[in-house]
Amino acid sequence: MDRGLGLNRSHPVYCCPMMCSGPHIVTRFAPSPTGYLHLGHLVNAIYVWGLAEKWGGQVLLRLEDHDRGRCRPEYEVAILEDLDWLGLQPDGGGPIYRQSERHARYVQVLDELVARDLVYTCTCSRKEIVARTGGGGGELRYDGHCRGQGYRPEQQGGLRLLLDDRTVSFEDLLLGPQTQCPARQCGDLLLRDRHDNWTYQFAVTVDDWEQGVSHVIRGEDLLESTGRQIQLAQLLGRPDGAAFLHHPLISDPGGHKLSKRDFAKGIRDYRAEGHTASDVLGKAAAHVGLWPDATPLAATDLGALFPTDTNPMALARNKHVEKETP
Ligand SMILES: [Zn+2]
Repeated sequence: MDRGLGLNRSHPVYCCPMMCSGPHIVTRFAPSPTGYLHLGHLVNAIYVWGLAEKWGGQVLLRLEDHDRGRCRPEYEVAILEDLDWLGLQPDGGGPIYRQSERHARYVQVLDELVARDLVYTCTCSRKEIVARTGGGGGELRYDGHCRGQGYRPEQQGGLRLLLDDRTVSFEDLLLGPQTQCPARQCGDLLLRDRHDNWTYQFAVTVDDWEQGVSHVIRGEDLLESTGRQIQLAQLLGRPDGAAFLHHPLISDPGGHKLSKRDFAKGIRDYRAEGHTASDVLGKAAAHVGLWPDATPLAATDLGALFPTDTNPMALARNKHVEKETP
């Protein structure tokens, strides 16, 4: 992978003059308040704010606190403080968008899917699914065991979405053409778990539409989630899907992914050690090859990290091609 500028130059995204007066670019930064911001978050923030600046777009903030068991208010406060200190201000104004406050909307969307007979209750534990399917080492694929049970709201269990076997193709703005088959990767998608927590996949798909996000910019570790989110968005009736860009994850100078221990160091720890916001931004940008070394980098200069041909307008409305797998 070309890490020179963090962008794969074999897939430049050219500006299409026909569309330059077209849709407005809206992207988002969406941390979970389950811990403090660390360098990995900052790499994502650099792509999000940098490309938004380059594209003349907006950055929305969303707190992904759908997992009520792991989120804490003190982390939310710390995230907002850190962003402020870093000089990374979201656009849009208004109240903070929290998933924990979107319950009524999620229920409404779920009800629409239930009314179309697309949802069923699943009482399987992960252990049971592994025992039946063998696990296989990679992503656990649900085998459809409870498909015949239908939707049973009185029964404690998770809720799954019936997925057909379609393949989903999309053009990643950085990685190029992608083809995924969610039914074969993960099986029927879990929308709500057996403890009544909305799943990440469901919540972000609803939120990205609700918030009018046109460009989802996130780490490569979420690439495999994209096909299922596109398929879900299509089922929900989103007429114009978001475009996606998956960027490299933070690594050490040898190109190795950082360990959990490396991520244990929060942005606030750097601040406590006397580093400036520009020091920390420079350090994060250097880790993904966006910046030559750990030279200070001001938040106002992030747009300059990206080449001028990364205008996404031509793909502002990504064409999602799907077809039934033969
Ligand atoms: Zn089941």
